[in-house]
Amino acid sequence: MVHGLEKINNIIAAEEEALMSLSREIHSHPELGDQEFYAVQILCDYLAAKGFAVEKEIAGQKTAFIARRRGGAGEGGLHIAFCAEYDALPEIGHACGHNLIAGASVAAAVALAGTDPGVPFTVSVIGTPNEEGRGGKIDLIRAGVFEGVDLAMMFHPDYISCVDYPSLACRTFSFTFHGENAHASGNPWDGRNALDAVILTFNGINALRQQLRDDVRIHGIITDGGQAINVIPDRAAAEFCIRSMDNRYLGEVVEKVLNCARGASLATGTGLSIAETEYPYDAMLTNRVLGQIFWDSLKEVSEEEWNERKEEVGAGSTDMGNVSLVVPSIQPLVAITDREVAVHTAEFARLCGTPQAYKVMLEVGKAMALAGYKVLRNPALLERIKEEFVKRTGSVRQRE
Ligand SMILES: [Zn+2]
Ligand SMILES: [Zn+2]
Repeated sequence: MVHGLEKINNIIAAEEEALMSLSREIHSHPELGDQEFYAVQILCDYLAAKGFAVEKEIAGQKTAFIARRRGGAGEGGLHIAFCAEYDALPEIGHACGHNLIAGASVAAAVALAGTDPGVPFTVSVIGTPNEEGRGGKIDLIRAGVFEGVDLAMMFHPDYISCVDYPSLACRTFSFTFHGENAHASGNPWDGRNALDAVILTFNGINALRQQLRDDVRIHGIITDGGQAINVIPDRAAAEFCIRSMDNRYLGEVVEKVLNCARGASLATGTGLSIAETEYPYDAMLTNRVLGQIFWDSLKEVSEEEWNERKEEVGAGSTDMGNVSLVVPSIQPLVAITDREVAVHTAEFARLCGTPQAYKVMLEVGKAMALAGYKVLRNPALLERIKEEFVKRTGSVRQRE
């Protein structure tokens, strides 16, 4: 095992400047989802120079790519993928630290590809666009990009560290009600009020909350509330996001929420059109065996005192959740700061461009490479990873 770690350390030491410069460049040129052309260009140029076969614009996405390299001697073997995100947020730039995710995944791939675990293998970087928006990984899954991948890894920077934390399955719907205009004072009895239907939908959902489990989140906005105060609105619309830790329970809650809108439509005599406006995100199913291998590896490659702070993690949603249902996956949170600075803030964006952040990024890159190396060396680990994956995904009823 020492041999693998030494090799990984040597490769990262030699590539340190180049890897930090990639991440720094992405940080200082923030690009929104599906517009990450500069990030994709520099990542792919670097990977091609390191012997990776690069395919761009995959799965019909202009800023998705896969870069593959063979390792070890012979044919076949495992395929280990590292996912790279690189999209930024409007106004506040790399406030989610995706420049560090890209840097760590590229570091891990280059380091792992240079090891010799004694078996043949494939290592790839899968470039996944627009995580903050529509969830580019979902198109990649649908296009079959993850078929044949045995393990998928990436990390997410944070102010706390935690390998297995809750993330929520999430579905987004718009409700548009179609009523009848009338003068709001002259002949209101001739109208059918679409805005009332929206308000009744909110009230119905608020009444529903008492009967829902604690892990459910429902949040909505009115996207069209009518145009003139003296006209009964013939059109009004709202958009809702519905989340739960449990993919199966989420399906039940969605049906109840849709019924709130249907009831409002009936009560007001308005027509209703329902549209699912975003891809459904699945709850992240962290592979605990792989997560433990990563965590042990992080302690081996780093001199930091790493501590998990599980109970403090607030739950969002990620398209890596969808990947975790098709391939054993991890997305550990790793702290890049000692201060409590939340992601999606201007201060976090600043922290994602500091020497401390780049140091953590390289250590995570090494740890992910070492985790991959350990699995390649030890088939019993892979057995345990796959056994857990089959057991836990079997109990998640997928929607499709
Ligand atoms: Zn984010
Ligand atoms: Zn993020």
